[in-house]
Amino acid sequence: LPIMAIVGRPNVGKSTLVNRIIGKRLAVVEDTPGVTRDRVTYTAEWAGTDFILMDTGGWEHNVTGIDLSVAQGAEVAMEMADAIMFVVDATVGATATDEKVMKLLRRTKKPVILVANKVDGPQGELEAAALWNLGLGEPYPVSALHGRGIGDLLDVAVAALPKELPLVDDEGAMRRVALVGRPNVGKSSLLNRLAGSQRAVVNEIAGTTRDPVDEIVEVDGELYTFIDTAGIRRRVHLTKGADYYASLRTSAAIHRAELALVLLDGATPLSDQDLRILSEVVDAGRAIVMVVNKWDLVGEDERFLFERSIEKDLSHLTWAPRINLSALTGWHSNRLKRAMDVSLGNWDRRIATGKLNTFLGELVAEHPHPVRGGKQPKILFATQAATRPPKFVLFTSGFLDPQYRRFIERRLRESFEFTGTPIHISVRVRE
Ligand code: GDP
Repeated sequence: LPIMAIVGRPNVGKSTLVNRIIGKRLAVVEDTPGVTRDRVTYTAEWAGTDFILMDTGGWEHNVTGIDLSVAQGAEVAMEMADAIMFVVDATVGATATDEKVMKLLRRTKKPVILVANKVDGPQGELEAAALWNLGLGEPYPVSALHGRGIGDLLDVAVAALPKELPLVDDEGAMRRVALVGRPNVGKSSLLNRLAGSQRAVVNEIAGTTRDPVDEIVEVDGELYTFIDTAGIRRRVHLTKGADYYASLRTSAAIHRAELALVLLDGATPLSDQDLRILSEVVDAGRAIVMVVNKWDLVGEDERFLFERSIEKDLSHLTWAPRINLSALTGWHSNRLKRAMDVSLGNWDRRIATGKLNTFLGELVAEHPHPVRGGKQPKILFATQAATRPPKFVLFTSGFLDPQYRRFIERRLRESFEFTGTPIHISVRVRE
């Protein structure tokens, strides 16, 4: 899905706008200084277009450093988003910080939509019009709080999104890979290991002069697009908020990728952040390969402990392939390619309707749905509605027990060997 980023100073109403657009009270409204939010992206829909809404303002600190933090958000947006909403408080007008951000945004080729927020009456219209002088084109007056002007804004903003994301659906195009994981897990080392000395050559062919965000990397004879390698290499100078911007980039990279290589550190216990990144990949419906790095540091006993903790904490992800390797020594890095192929192959895979129904027929005959209140829902027909990732629709004569549904999902996964890809099952009840 295309990514729409929201950029702006603290207190201009970014979170309120996010709430308005996603139509739920999910985002944090109070711009509490120093708050680190877990969620930075939300799925949204307008007039039949689905997109990802990315709030770049989640990390904000008092007075000093505001410029820097807003600029960081703008920078991530310029690199990772497909379109940018720049929110200004019309009642305050353009501040010096706004001017600085505007200067940054003028450099981007991405579409920028200027949002004049807090326009609650006729006076506001005038204030909004004054924002023409920012030189970013027409300011769109809205009141995020009262929902005014949001429809018109979204019409314009959604129209600015690219119709199709480049490459993703092209037959034979390079696969897009996000290399993600918490800081210091070895992302940069693994990238260097994989790219090795070929990097210079590949970049020369592409004719790029500046540091590209994405990089073409050859893994065992096949070329892949690694997403946001600039973000992987960047040594962030901010001490506060650095993690927040790293998580913004991670989130954007996952959404732009087809496959996520999730790096874990074999020498330290699994952390909440690891679990969060993993579930973000699964929720986004991307193919996945887990990579446990620094295996050279792990002794025999610790290996056992680490394996046990994975079995315990990642029991919901037994279907994700896992490679233990060392980016430092290169040990087992030659196993990556095969795992990536398997996961992506399954992510793309389509099961013929006949085969699917034969499988379900046999499964249900052997393990029928339990009888509930004298009734027993039947599965009438099933079809695979989508790939990338595989999505199945079951047409039934009644609601299925969640437990039974999970049972079907598990068996489906096992029988058809959907290693490395999330799968979705939805149920349509026919009266
Ligand atoms: P990033 O923040 O995820 O990009 O992590 P880096 O690639 O910068 O690595 C962080 C640190 O871990 C560096 O000091 C690396 O040398 C070290 N490191 C990375 N991979 C390995 C590995 O496989 N084994 C060992 N022993 N150290 C590693």
